[in-house]
Amino acid sequence: MDRMKLGKTNLEVNKNGFGALPIQRRNMEDSIEILRTAYDAGIDFYDTAHFYTDSEEKIGNALGDVREDIYLASKSGAETVEEFWSDLETSLKSMKTDYLDLYQFHNISFCPKEDDELYQAMLEAKDKGMINHIGITTHKITFAHEAIESGLYETLQYPFSYLSGEEELELVKKCEEHDVGFIAMKAMGGGLIKNSKASFAYINQFDNVLPIWGIQKMEELNEFLSYDENTILTDELKADIEKDKEDLGENFCRGCGYCMPCPEGINISLCARMSLWIRRFPTEPNMDEKTQKTMEETLNCIECYACVDNCPYELDIPELLKENYEDYQNVLSGKTKIR
Ligand code: SF4
Ligand code: SF4
Repeated sequence: MDRMKLGKTNLEVNKNGFGALPIQRRNMEDSIEILRTAYDAGIDFYDTAHFYTDSEEKIGNALGDVREDIYLASKSGAETVEEFWSDLETSLKSMKTDYLDLYQFHNISFCPKEDDELYQAMLEAKDKGMINHIGITTHKITFAHEAIESGLYETLQYPFSYLSGEEELELVKKCEEHDVGFIAMKAMGGGLIKNSKASFAYINQFDNVLPIWGIQKMEELNEFLSYDENTILTDELKADIEKDKEDLGENFCRGCGYCMPCPEGINISLCARMSLWIRRFPTEPNMDEKTQKTMEETLNCIECYACVDNCPYELDIPELLKENYEDYQNVLSGKTKIR
């Protein structure tokens, strides 16, 4: 398997990274099996977060005995120094280690600079040997530029997939120019991309981009393990990508959840992309009573637009909810056929 250098960290990692958010949805035994299989196959970069419930603990249980052979990255959304230390200490304990290879600010509301006490806490953690490198994750493009330009971050974690546009491509280039390692989150479009081979081949074009595939099932892991440096963008895969982009259009919800919670309790990240779910994953139970009830709740939208301010893609969420609700009702009643 291909290897790459992760920006200024100089870490040499396998070009298939493991995104450990989804394993929080699996039990301990299954998660350990998946993580151990990934390790045995040569995956050596594992990204998690304090926020991903028991994901860190699962990594600790699965890989604690091979700590020295792998790279561990985690993150904290803390915005106070006290919470920062508490998160870091919990992460180290859960992951059964006394240091992290990379620690990242996790989608916090500002970009800490050298004179901020939060960044000073990062430096202190580095001095103490609790972390080796400093990174940042965000969904906001302006924030990402600010972080790169600050020169304070060795990695940037940002959503990137074949659905990304020119702005994200510029960001990848800028990271390369500044020797900032680019860690691609949501490389499967937040769950909307079905073609893992096309995803892999697309990202494989960029020497400085490390995808962290969000893996929940052994089948998903095996798919990624079956690709290697020879998995390149063929004309056939390029055509698949173009077709996918055409089907999804520009203004689709990526499911990041940054607009939530909605004060009216609406499950925006599910409801604003229901039309896509029911067409792309027709076998999922999207028409059951529970989902119907969730869709009914979109009618409670009071159009306060609080969510819109937090959507990195500037989507008109109330409008998207209306369109998805109407389409859902038409599919339910049989007026619209999707199969
Ligand atoms: S606009 Fe609607 S969906 Fe958005 S936060 Fe307000 S009530 Fe919730
Ligand atoms: S509406 Fe925007 S912020 Fe909310 S889940 Fe979708 S893409 Fe993310």
